[in-house]
Amino acid sequence: MVLFILLGVCLVGVAVALNVSWILLNWRRIVPMALGIPFFALLIVGVALNTIFLVREVRRNERHDAFLSAVTHELKTPIASIHLYLETLQRRQLDDAQRSEFYTRMLADSDRLLATVEQVLKAGEVGQRSRSHVRVSVDMGALVEDCVHITLLRHHLDEKAITLRVEETLLPMMVRGDPDELQTALLNVLANAVKYSPDGADVSVALSVEQDAWVRVSVTDHGIGIPAAHLKRIFRRFYRVPSRNVLRTKGTGLGLYLVRTIARQHGGDATAQSAGEGRGSTVSLQLPRILIPVLEHD
Ligand code: ADP
Repeated sequence: MVLFILLGVCLVGVAVALNVSWILLNWRRIVPMALGIPFFALLIVGVALNTIFLVREVRRNERHDAFLSAVTHELKTPIASIHLYLETLQRRQLDDAQRSEFYTRMLADSDRLLATVEQVLKAGEVGQRSRSHVRVSVDMGALVEDCVHITLLRHHLDEKAITLRVEETLLPMMVRGDPDELQTALLNVLANAVKYSPDGADVSVALSVEQDAWVRVSVTDHGIGIPAAHLKRIFRRFYRVPSRNVLRTKGTGLGLYLVRTIARQHGGDATAQSAGEGRGSTVSLQLPRILIPVLEHD
């Protein structure tokens, strides 16, 4: 990539130099000047745009490669582990306790496998424009509570690891949308808050109403944090913050892409804030609030 950037900068430099010498040589002649200046300007803009495009493509390729190796790893590890347990079960006589432990581990491995496959499938699915959308009234209070519960169970966490704070409102906090997709989005945000807290999860979830028109769910953790330069990029497909801490953590870079796509398809958005590396982060979902329940399918 450095080579592409250097080449681009050199070409722009040569074009500017040619342009300046052209102006110096022809400043008395109107016609060549009138034709030459826009032509050179076009050339410079073209070379600059081409360099930007090339750099973006190289970056995108790097992300694809990283995604492929992450997914391959995520698929291969549990399969290899299940294979090993099955082989042991077949070859050796084990007592009941050992056998039941093996079954539990195999179940955990197959859950991990299923989660990876579902995330990849979902990421392909949400991008399709033609798919039909379920749109019903969803009580965000109940949904968030369910998601917190599922996350505690999935990650074998103590109840105190995730605290839930719900703003008191006269009417329930309803949004119009697909409950399964909203659950997928929230579970991804909660899973990240746990995953990127290597010293133990200390997560707080806040559900509130903003200006009567929006329902906001904020998930705050005290984990590794997100450097400011990456706060927007983490929502791109396959993007993972390139630091050692993060790359050691398993993942595909699809979770937050799913979160933002789902939020936007519901008329809302997803954002991230962090005071910097090692200082925790907050990921928020903002969705349009409805006051009258609906039941329909688009
Ligand atoms: P991944 O599978 O890598 O977790 P995501 O799309 O869910 O993919 O997240 C993209 C990147 O954003 C992660 O690789 C990580 O660098 C960063 N990230 C997401 N959530 C958090 C968080 N709560 N704390 C720190 N970093 C986070």
